[in-house]
Amino acid sequence: MLKIGVLALQGAFIEHVHMLRRAGAEAVEVRLPEELDGLDGLIIPGGESTTIGKLAASASLVKPLREFACSRPTWGTCAGMIFLARELDNHAQPILALMDISVDRNAFGRQLDSFETDLAVPALGDTPWHAVFIRAPVVTAVGDDVEVLARLEDGRIVAVRQDHLLATAFHPELTEDLRFHAWFLQLVQQAD
Ligand code: GLN
Repeated sequence: MLKIGVLALQGAFIEHVHMLRRAGAEAVEVRLPEELDGLDGLIIPGGESTTIGKLAASASLVKPLREFACSRPTWGTCAGMIFLARELDNHAQPILALMDISVDRNAFGRQLDSFETDLAVPALGDTPWHAVFIRAPVVTAVGDDVEVLARLEDGRIVAVRQDHLLATAFHPELTEDLRFHAWFLQLVQQAD
């Protein structure tokens, strides 16, 4: 059985744990560097990216997380996407700077704090994905090695993959649809 860690410093980590278990994986909460040992993959959840960054720094987790995500499949949702990005538009905060994407942290502003919409995600099949956005970021630039998985109707990029790294601006763990978690598990399986 695949063993997947979920960074459990702050935010919506328990929902990922439940989804991973439903998708047939072993899920463990990660709060200490040694808890990364032996994991097949990792999820960095949504929450507040500045808080996750600060807590990761005080738990001496930034370097171990970077080393882990350099070689093992890692998926960031929302704040996790921000934490994986190479560059943030207009913000200075600790990030892992691993994925070749630029991210606008609160792209929808205060007027549109959260919303839900159906997205085409060809990697998951023909059925649209019901995406839940909460104070969501968007990807404003991608490098050559980055595959765009989903865009909003206006063209803004909200899901990307670069090799073994996956990032979504929305929250698949807040739906009942297991397809994204199942797809991530497939990436993990293929990385072995
Ligand atoms: N905008 C938040 C941040 O900057 C992310 C919101 C979320 O994860 N739902 O961290």
